[in-house]
Amino acid sequence: MSPAVLPGGGRKGNSGTVDQVAVLLAPGHVPDELGGTYEDACAALGLPPAAGGYALYLLDQMNRRTTIISTATSAVREAADAYGRGGDATMAGVTVAAGEIAEVREGWPEEFGGGPRCQFCRAPDPAWLYEGADVEILLGEPLAGLRGEPPRVAGSEVVGCADWHACEACHDLIEAGDLPGWVGLLGRYADPDVPMLVQSAWREFWANHRPPGPAAPPEWTPGRRRRAAYEIAAGWDAFTAAYPVGDTPLAGDQDAPERVRAALDAARSYLRQPPPAGRVRIYPAGDSAIVRADGDGWSLVGRTGSASFIQLDADPYTLHPIGWTDSPSLLERLSDLVPPL
Ligand SMILES: [Zn+2]
Repeated sequence: MSPAVLPGGGRKGNSGTVDQVAVLLAPGHVPDELGGTYEDACAALGLPPAAGGYALYLLDQMNRRTTIISTATSAVREAADAYGRGGDATMAGVTVAAGEIAEVREGWPEEFGGGPRCQFCRAPDPAWLYEGADVEILLGEPLAGLRGEPPRVAGSEVVGCADWHACEACHDLIEAGDLPGWVGLLGRYADPDVPMLVQSAWREFWANHRPPGPAAPPEWTPGRRRRAAYEIAAGWDAFTAAYPVGDTPLAGDQDAPERVRAALDAARSYLRQPPPAGRVRIYPAGDSAIVRADGDGWSLVGRTGSASFIQLDADPYTLHPIGWTDSPSLLERLSDLVPPL
Protein backbone atom coordinates (compact mmCIF):
# COMPACT_ATOMS: atom_id res chain seq x y z
CA MET A 1 0.00 0.00 0.00
CA SER A 2 2.83 2.40 -0.72
CA PRO A 3 1.85 5.80 -2.03
CA ALA A 4 0.42 5.08 -5.40
CA VAL A 5 0.35 8.49 -6.96
CA LEU A 6 3.52 8.67 -8.88
CA PRO A 7 5.47 11.44 -10.44
CA GLY A 8 4.17 10.82 -13.93
CA GLY A 9 6.44 13.02 -15.93
CA GLY A 10 6.51 14.47 -12.43
CA ARG A 11 3.64 14.84 -10.02
CA LYS A 12 4.96 18.31 -9.49
CA GLY A 13 6.37 18.67 -12.94
CA ASN A 14 4.62 19.32 -16.16
CA SER A 15 5.13 19.24 -19.84
CA GLY A 16 4.18 22.61 -21.23
CA THR A 17 0.65 23.12 -20.03
CA VAL A 18 0.01 19.44 -19.32
CA ASP A 19 0.31 17.97 -15.84
CA GLN A 20 0.11 14.23 -15.70
CA VAL A 21 -0.29 11.88 -12.78
CA ALA A 22 -0.19 8.14 -13.26
CA VAL A 23 -1.84 5.87 -10.71
CA LEU A 24 -1.67 2.11 -10.39
CA LEU A 25 -4.87 0.47 -9.19
CA ALA A 26 -4.46 -3.28 -8.88
CA PRO A 27 -5.07 -6.15 -6.48
CA GLY A 28 -2.75 -5.50 -3.52
CA HIS A 29 -2.10 -1.94 -4.66
CA VAL A 30 -4.98 0.39 -3.88
CA PRO A 31 -4.06 4.07 -3.59
CA ASP A 32 -4.64 5.64 -0.19
CA GLU A 33 -6.78 8.30 -1.84
CA LEU A 34 -9.35 5.62 -2.57
CA GLY A 35 -8.84 3.43 0.50
CA GLY A 36 -10.63 0.14 1.02
CA THR A 37 -10.09 -3.08 -0.88
CA TYR A 38 -9.40 -3.43 -4.60
CA GLU A 39 -13.03 -4.36 -5.13
CA ASP A 40 -14.13 -1.32 -3.08
CA ALA A 41 -11.91 0.94 -5.20
CA CYS A 42 -13.17 -0.51 -8.48
CA ALA A 43 -16.76 -0.07 -7.31
CA ALA A 44 -15.99 3.53 -6.33
CA LEU A 45 -14.71 4.21 -9.84
CA GLY A 46 -17.38 2.17 -11.58
CA LEU A 47 -14.85 -0.28 -13.05
CA PRO A 48 -15.08 -4.07 -13.21
CA PRO A 49 -12.37 -5.52 -10.92
CA ALA A 50 -10.06 -6.85 -13.65
CA ALA A 51 -7.38 -9.22 -12.38
CA GLY A 52 -4.60 -7.26 -14.08
CA GLY A 53 -5.64 -3.95 -12.60
CA TYR A 54 -5.67 -0.55 -14.23
CA ALA A 55 -3.39 2.37 -14.92
CA LEU A 56 -5.15 5.68 -14.41
CA TYR A 57 -3.64 8.62 -16.24
CA LEU A 58 -4.88 11.89 -14.80
CA LEU A 59 -4.29 14.71 -17.27
CA ASP A 60 -4.64 18.39 -16.46
CA GLN A 61 -4.45 20.45 -19.62
CA MET A 62 -5.41 24.09 -19.95
CA ASN A 63 -7.92 23.76 -17.13
CA ARG A 64 -9.47 20.76 -18.79
CA ARG A 65 -9.07 17.56 -16.84
CA THR A 66 -9.27 14.10 -18.30
CA THR A 67 -8.84 10.60 -16.89
CA ILE A 68 -7.56 7.90 -19.23
CA ILE A 69 -8.11 4.41 -17.87
CA SER A 70 -5.83 1.78 -19.38
CA THR A 71 -5.55 -1.96 -18.90
CA ALA A 72 -1.82 -1.83 -19.71
CA THR A 73 -0.16 -1.49 -16.32
CA SER A 74 3.48 -2.53 -16.87
CA ALA A 75 4.84 1.02 -17.28
CA VAL A 76 3.10 2.33 -14.18
CA ARG A 77 4.12 -0.79 -12.23
CA GLU A 78 7.76 -0.18 -13.11
CA ALA A 79 7.41 3.45 -12.07
CA ALA A 80 5.74 2.36 -8.82
CA ASP A 81 8.63 -0.01 -8.09
CA ALA A 82 11.20 2.71 -8.76
CA TYR A 83 9.27 5.15 -6.59
CA GLY A 84 8.98 2.58 -3.80
CA ARG A 85 12.75 2.06 -3.86
CA GLY A 86 13.28 5.77 -3.46
CA GLY A 87 14.25 6.29 -7.07
CA ASP A 88 12.93 8.81 -9.48
CA ALA A 89 9.80 7.48 -11.08
CA THR A 90 9.19 8.77 -14.52
CA MET A 91 6.47 8.11 -17.01
CA ALA A 92 8.09 10.22 -19.68
CA GLY A 93 7.74 8.77 -23.14
CA VAL A 94 4.95 6.38 -22.18
CA THR A 95 2.36 5.95 -24.86
CA VAL A 96 -0.94 4.21 -24.31
CA ALA A 97 -2.13 2.09 -27.21
CA ALA A 98 -5.72 2.75 -28.23
CA GLY A 99 -6.61 -0.91 -27.80
CA GLU A 100 -5.48 -0.78 -24.18
CA ILE A 101 -7.65 2.21 -23.28
CA ALA A 102 -10.66 1.02 -21.34
CA GLU A 103 -12.25 4.43 -21.00
CA VAL A 104 -11.64 8.15 -21.29
CA ARG A 105 -13.52 10.31 -18.81
CA GLU A 106 -13.95 14.02 -18.38
CA GLY A 107 -12.57 15.24 -15.06
CA TRP A 108 -10.68 13.42 -12.34
CA PRO A 109 -12.10 11.10 -9.69
CA GLU A 110 -13.00 13.10 -6.60
CA GLU A 111 -10.62 10.99 -4.51
CA PHE A 112 -7.71 12.42 -6.51
CA GLY A 113 -8.78 16.01 -6.19
CA GLY A 114 -11.50 16.16 -8.81
CA GLY A 115 -14.04 18.91 -8.51
CA PRO A 116 -13.99 22.63 -9.20
CA ARG A 117 -10.63 24.35 -9.56
CA CYS A 118 -9.74 27.98 -9.94
CA GLN A 119 -9.90 28.49 -13.70
CA PHE A 120 -6.95 30.88 -13.61
CA CYS A 121 -4.37 29.20 -11.37
CA ARG A 122 -5.93 25.75 -10.84
CA ALA A 123 -6.02 26.06 -7.04
CA PRO A 124 -8.46 23.57 -5.47
CA ASP A 125 -11.62 24.57 -3.61
CA PRO A 126 -12.20 27.94 -5.31
CA ALA A 127 -14.11 30.37 -3.11
CA TRP A 128 -15.78 32.40 -5.86
CA LEU A 129 -18.04 31.75 -8.81
CA TYR A 130 -18.62 34.04 -11.76
CA GLU A 131 -21.85 32.88 -13.26
CA GLY A 132 -21.65 32.44 -17.01
CA ALA A 133 -23.44 35.04 -19.08
CA ASP A 134 -26.46 34.09 -21.16
CA VAL A 135 -25.87 34.58 -24.84
CA GLU A 136 -28.67 35.10 -27.33
CA ILE A 137 -28.09 33.15 -30.53
CA LEU A 138 -30.02 34.25 -33.61
CA LEU A 139 -31.37 31.38 -35.64
CA GLY A 140 -31.81 31.74 -39.38
CA GLU A 141 -30.64 30.81 -42.81
CA PRO A 142 -26.96 30.22 -43.46
CA LEU A 143 -25.05 33.20 -44.85
CA ALA A 144 -23.69 31.19 -47.76
CA GLY A 145 -25.69 31.79 -50.91
CA LEU A 146 -27.17 35.10 -49.79
CA ARG A 147 -26.62 37.99 -52.24
CA GLY A 148 -26.14 41.04 -50.08
CA GLU A 149 -29.56 40.98 -48.46
CA PRO A 150 -29.63 40.39 -44.68
CA PRO A 151 -30.33 36.83 -43.63
CA ARG A 152 -33.83 36.04 -42.45
CA VAL A 153 -33.96 35.55 -38.66
CA ALA A 154 -36.30 32.75 -37.81
CA GLY A 155 -35.98 33.06 -34.07
CA SER A 156 -33.47 33.09 -31.24
CA GLU A 157 -32.27 30.88 -28.49
CA VAL A 158 -30.62 31.83 -25.20
CA VAL A 159 -27.76 29.59 -24.17
CA GLY A 160 -25.62 29.80 -21.09
CA CYS A 161 -21.83 30.04 -21.15
CA ALA A 162 -19.73 28.11 -18.69
CA ASP A 163 -19.40 29.40 -15.14
CA TRP A 164 -15.96 30.47 -13.99
CA HIS A 165 -14.51 29.49 -10.62
CA ALA A 166 -11.83 31.66 -9.03
CA CYS A 167 -9.73 31.34 -5.90
CA GLU A 168 -9.48 34.23 -3.41
CA ALA A 169 -6.23 35.58 -4.87
CA CYS A 170 -7.38 35.45 -8.49
CA HIS A 171 -10.72 36.94 -7.49
CA ASP A 172 -8.89 39.92 -5.97
CA LEU A 173 -6.87 40.41 -9.16
CA ILE A 174 -10.01 40.21 -11.31
CA GLU A 175 -11.88 42.66 -9.12
CA ALA A 176 -8.95 45.10 -9.26
CA GLY A 177 -9.84 45.33 -12.94
CA ASP A 178 -6.61 47.08 -13.91
CA LEU A 179 -3.53 46.23 -15.95
CA PRO A 180 -1.42 45.05 -12.97
CA GLY A 181 -4.36 42.80 -12.05
CA TRP A 182 -4.42 41.32 -15.55
CA VAL A 183 -0.65 40.78 -15.54
CA GLY A 184 -0.88 39.22 -12.09
CA LEU A 185 -3.60 36.90 -13.31
CA LEU A 186 -1.41 35.77 -16.19
CA GLY A 187 1.44 35.26 -13.72
CA ARG A 188 -0.64 33.04 -11.46
CA TYR A 189 -1.01 30.51 -14.26
CA ALA A 190 2.66 29.78 -13.45
CA ASP A 191 3.42 28.98 -17.04
CA PRO A 192 5.82 31.14 -19.02
CA ASP A 193 3.67 30.87 -22.10
CA VAL A 194 0.00 31.01 -21.25
CA PRO A 195 -1.55 29.38 -24.31
CA MET A 196 -3.28 31.76 -26.71
CA LEU A 197 -6.55 29.89 -26.41
CA VAL A 198 -6.51 30.36 -22.65
CA GLN A 199 -5.49 34.00 -22.97
CA SER A 200 -8.29 34.76 -25.40
CA ALA A 201 -10.84 33.02 -23.17
CA TRP A 202 -9.58 35.04 -20.23
CA ARG A 203 -9.76 38.27 -22.23
CA GLU A 204 -13.35 37.50 -23.12
CA PHE A 205 -14.07 36.81 -19.46
CA TRP A 206 -12.21 39.95 -18.36
CA ALA A 207 -14.35 42.11 -20.65
CA ASN A 208 -17.74 40.53 -20.02
CA HIS A 209 -17.84 38.74 -16.66
CA ARG A 210 -20.73 39.10 -14.28
CA PRO A 211 -20.29 40.05 -10.60
CA PRO A 212 -18.97 37.14 -8.52
CA GLY A 213 -20.75 35.28 -5.77
CA PRO A 214 -19.48 32.85 -3.16
CA ALA A 215 -19.04 29.37 -4.65
CA ALA A 216 -21.18 26.70 -3.05
CA PRO A 217 -19.24 23.69 -1.78
CA PRO A 218 -19.34 20.75 -4.18
CA GLU A 219 -21.92 18.10 -3.50
CA TRP A 220 -20.92 15.79 -0.66
CA THR A 221 -20.38 12.32 -2.07
CA PRO A 222 -18.72 9.07 -0.97
CA GLY A 223 -15.74 10.07 -3.13
CA ARG A 224 -15.44 13.39 -1.35
CA ARG A 225 -15.68 11.60 2.01
CA ARG A 226 -12.84 9.27 1.00
CA ARG A 227 -10.77 12.25 -0.16
CA ALA A 228 -11.36 14.00 3.17
CA ALA A 229 -10.33 10.88 5.12
CA TYR A 230 -7.17 10.64 3.03
CA GLU A 231 -6.29 14.30 3.62
CA ILE A 232 -6.90 14.06 7.38
CA ALA A 233 -4.72 10.94 7.66
CA ALA A 234 -1.97 12.41 5.46
CA GLY A 235 -1.92 15.75 7.27
CA TRP A 236 -2.93 14.79 10.79
CA ASP A 237 -0.71 17.34 12.58
CA ALA A 238 -1.85 20.24 10.41
CA PHE A 239 -5.43 19.05 10.67
CA THR A 240 -5.47 18.84 14.48
CA ALA A 241 -3.73 22.23 14.62
CA ALA A 242 -6.61 23.67 12.61
CA TYR A 243 -9.24 21.72 14.58
CA PRO A 244 -7.83 21.40 18.12
CA VAL A 245 -9.21 18.22 19.61
CA GLY A 246 -8.71 19.60 23.11
CA ASP A 247 -11.10 22.46 22.38
CA THR A 248 -13.86 20.19 21.16
CA PRO A 249 -16.52 19.25 23.70
CA LEU A 250 -16.65 15.48 23.47
CA ALA A 251 -19.85 13.69 24.18
CA GLY A 252 -20.21 10.36 25.88
CA ASP A 253 -20.77 7.34 23.69
CA GLN A 254 -24.48 7.25 24.42
CA ASP A 255 -24.88 10.92 23.50
CA ALA A 256 -23.61 10.39 19.98
CA PRO A 257 -26.18 10.48 17.20
CA GLU A 258 -27.57 7.10 16.24
CA ARG A 259 -25.86 7.04 12.85
CA VAL A 260 -22.49 7.83 14.44
CA ARG A 261 -22.94 5.00 16.92
CA ALA A 262 -23.87 2.71 14.04
CA ALA A 263 -20.63 3.60 12.25
CA LEU A 264 -18.65 3.04 15.46
CA ASP A 265 -20.32 -0.34 15.86
CA ALA A 266 -19.34 -1.20 12.29
CA ALA A 267 -15.74 -0.23 13.08
CA ARG A 268 -15.82 -2.36 16.23
CA SER A 269 -17.14 -5.29 14.22
CA TYR A 270 -13.77 -5.29 12.42
CA LEU A 271 -12.21 -6.38 15.73
CA ARG A 272 -14.38 -9.48 15.85
CA GLN A 273 -14.19 -10.22 12.12
CA PRO A 274 -11.07 -8.70 10.56
CA PRO A 275 -12.05 -7.02 7.28
CA PRO A 276 -10.36 -7.68 3.93
CA ALA A 277 -7.03 -5.98 3.38
CA GLY A 278 -7.27 -2.26 2.76
CA ARG A 279 -10.32 -1.41 4.85
CA VAL A 280 -8.04 -0.61 7.80
CA ARG A 281 -4.81 1.29 7.10
CA ILE A 282 -2.07 2.17 9.55
CA TYR A 283 0.48 4.93 9.10
CA PRO A 284 3.40 5.27 11.56
CA ALA A 285 3.48 8.64 13.31
CA GLY A 286 6.30 8.83 15.83
CA ASP A 287 5.50 6.68 18.85
CA SER A 288 1.91 6.28 17.73
CA ALA A 289 0.07 5.59 14.52
CA ILE A 290 -2.59 7.17 12.37
CA VAL A 291 -5.44 4.73 11.86
CA ARG A 292 -7.93 4.92 9.04
CA ALA A 293 -10.85 2.55 8.71
CA ASP A 294 -13.47 2.67 5.96
CA GLY A 295 -16.84 1.02 5.71
CA ASP A 296 -20.13 1.35 3.93
CA GLY A 297 -20.93 5.05 4.13
CA TRP A 298 -18.38 5.98 6.79
CA SER A 299 -14.69 6.69 7.36
CA LEU A 300 -12.91 6.79 10.72
CA VAL A 301 -9.55 8.53 11.09
CA GLY A 302 -7.65 8.97 14.34
CA ARG A 303 -4.35 8.81 16.11
CA THR A 304 -3.68 6.11 18.67
CA GLY A 305 -3.64 7.61 22.15
CA SER A 306 -5.68 10.55 20.91
CA ALA A 307 -9.07 11.35 19.49
CA SER A 308 -10.53 10.34 16.18
CA PHE A 309 -13.10 11.59 13.72
CA ILE A 310 -15.90 9.92 11.84
CA GLN A 311 -17.33 11.20 8.59
CA LEU A 312 -20.58 9.91 7.18
CA ASP A 313 -22.11 10.03 3.74
CA ALA A 314 -25.32 10.95 5.54
CA ASP A 315 -23.82 14.10 7.14
CA PRO A 316 -22.35 16.38 4.47
CA TYR A 317 -19.18 18.17 5.50
CA THR A 318 -19.55 17.14 9.15
CA LEU A 319 -16.76 15.85 11.33
CA HIS A 320 -17.91 13.84 14.31
CA PRO A 321 -15.17 13.92 16.97
CA ILE A 322 -14.82 10.63 18.82
CA GLY A 323 -12.84 11.19 21.97
CA TRP A 324 -14.62 9.41 24.72
CA THR A 325 -13.01 6.75 26.78
CA ASP A 326 -13.27 3.76 24.47
CA SER A 327 -12.07 5.52 21.31
CA PRO A 328 -8.33 5.20 22.06
CA SER A 329 -8.72 1.49 22.76
CA LEU A 330 -10.67 1.06 19.51
CA LEU A 331 -7.85 2.71 17.57
CA GLU A 332 -5.20 0.66 19.38
CA ARG A 333 -7.01 -2.55 18.62
CA LEU A 334 -7.67 -1.60 15.00
CA SER A 335 -3.99 -0.77 14.62
CA ASP A 336 -3.14 -4.29 15.79
CA LEU A 337 -5.09 -5.72 12.86
CA VAL A 338 -2.60 -4.79 10.18
CA PRO A 339 1.13 -4.20 10.01
CA PRO A 340 2.14 -0.57 9.52
CA LEU A 341 2.76 0.56 5.98
ZN1 LIG B 1 -6.63 31.16 -8.66
